[in-house]
Amino acid sequence: MHELSIALSMIEQIEQVAARHPGPVRSAQVRIGVLSGVDTEALRFAWEIARAGTQFASTNLEIENVPLRIRCPACGDTHPAEVDSILCPRCVTPEQQILEGRELQLASLEIDE
Ligand SMILES: [Zn+2]
Repeated sequence: MHELSIALSMIEQIEQVAARHPGPVRSAQVRIGVLSGVDTEALRFAWEIARAGTQFASTNLEIENVPLRIRCPACGDTHPAEVDSILCPRCVTPEQQILEGRELQLASLEIDE
């Protein structure tokens, strides 16, 4: 299960940050791009498994879904786009540069002091 390995690696990242702070980690915010291939619901489920028995057993996972945003190399326009339709709405160039939508990152942690 792809999402479980993601959740486990997030726990590892959180451990590294938490080691430098005394308080409990209340929540972890992650950014998940629409192109990342991560199933949000599967990740929530995997998080429950990954956090069990760790010091983060009560840490909430907050997921921010990042929509696809692209830039047209032909006309320079930047625009939101659907995954199945990335033609430039202005000049209909099919080759678009992806600005946002591939994110899979731990954005921030909320830690009690
Ligand atoms: Zn264009």
